[in-house]
Amino acid sequence: MTGRDTRVLISGGGIAGPALAYWLRRYGFRPTVVERASEVRTGGYRIQIEGSGIQALQRMGLLETFRRHGGPTPSSMRLTMRPGGRPLTLPGGAAVSTEPGLVIQRGTAAERIYLHTKDDVEYRFGDSVTAIHEHPDGATVHFERGESEEYDLVVAADGIRSRTRSLAFGGVDPIHYLGTNLALFTLDNTLGLHDQVIGHAWPRRGCLIATFPGNTALEGNFLFRAPNPVEDVDQHKRLIRGRFGADGWHAPHLLRAMEEAPFAHFAPTAQVRMTSWTSGRVALVGDAGYCPDPMTGQGTSLALVGAAVLAHEISAANGNHRVAYPAYEAAIRGFVDANHAMAGEITRLTAPDAGPKELRVREVLYRGLFGAFSVTGVPPVAKAAYSYPLDKLSQ
Ligand SMILES: Cc1cc2nc3c(=O)[nH]c(=O)nc-3n(C[C@H](O)[C@H](O)[C@H](O)COP(=O)(O)OP(=O)(O)OC[C@H]3O[C@@H](n4cnc5c(N)ncnc54)[C@H](O)[C@@H]3O)c2cc1C
Repeated sequence: MTGRDTRVLISGGGIAGPALAYWLRRYGFRPTVVERASEVRTGGYRIQIEGSGIQALQRMGLLETFRRHGGPTPSSMRLTMRPGGRPLTLPGGAAVSTEPGLVIQRGTAAERIYLHTKDDVEYRFGDSVTAIHEHPDGATVHFERGESEEYDLVVAADGIRSRTRSLAFGGVDPIHYLGTNLALFTLDNTLGLHDQVIGHAWPRRGCLIATFPGNTALEGNFLFRAPNPVEDVDQHKRLIRGRFGADGWHAPHLLRAMEEAPFAHFAPTAQVRMTSWTSGRVALVGDAGYCPDPMTGQGTSLALVGAAVLAHEISAANGNHRVAYPAYEAAIRGFVDANHAMAGEITRLTAPDAGPKELRVREVLYRGLFGAFSVTGVPPVAKAAYSYPLDKLSQ
């Protein structure tokens, strides 16, 4: 079936799935979202949204809501690269976009998109896809709860470890370890920071502290290089204690906070790399297709932009996936690549792949470079990751 009656199943009710459902509904389709969790997951880590992510929210009529439930992005980040040294000031959001960015808790962002769409979109919580059998007229989808239903298109929006992606694409694991492991946790703002990000880098490791909207809480992180991904939480904590145990700055405070944190997330930094984001009637959107790595701070923007582009192409092709899917892939590839390229640069800065001597040299180079950016603006290649021509899509 094609046309506005095209039946679209979206697996995953995080950011990309509900955003795609919003756009499909707006173009006249009736999508269904199946979400494994029993309800929208609130809370979680802080996300920063800049550039095209802001534009995407504006086009969805959600920007004011996000601003109301979030806070401003820090105007800059200050990073110390030598014990007792003068911090570097890194360019903030204003350097990459004229529209101010925002900070919001991930769960709040997901909840707000859900609330914006729930009256028009069918959500099925507490269920997930277990098998997809394609045939000439569509796809029979089997669900965990035992039912099976017919759809024309299936979109995997179920995050970095997408099971729907494995079902449809099988084969090689597309998750690439980026060489660092990230621990991230919340703590009270006893440091009195105000809309700020501060950090300290040491050889092969570093930590950052950022404010949550409202400045009552902080998010601390430890990032360290290791030859292999560390998946086990206890091992992750042990390695952090060993790596940062003798460090100064706020490291001792963060180490204590990590042990008592009400929310913590431990994971290797990783990127999803795929040569194609579609297979037959199945397409990937958001982290399932192109997670850029949390350290880029761009995953949500990619998810929002990817969802808008995929829905636009499905609508332009009147539901015909043979036309829509190649157009989606071509339209989004450059933007994804630009964001993937950022990941290495950011971890190189915050957990430098360098010993003490080289770190000194880098500090001098960065100081000159960032000083020049404050006069000339960041080069266009750095802005590419933040800007997608969304105004070319139909509203
Ligand atoms: C620590 C950390 C910090 C981050 N910081 C930022 C930041 O500052 N800025 C930014 O833009 N991005 C940031 N990100 C990335 C951002 O959170 C993701 O890129 C974004 O959430 C992607 O949205 P998504 O909908 O594709 O995936 P997700 O948000 O992961 O949503 C996937 C959804 O699918 C559901 N699901 C999973 N499996 C199944 C299944 N089998 N069946 C049905 N449903 C399923 C999940 O429950 C979830 O609701 C960060 C990520 C992390 C981990």
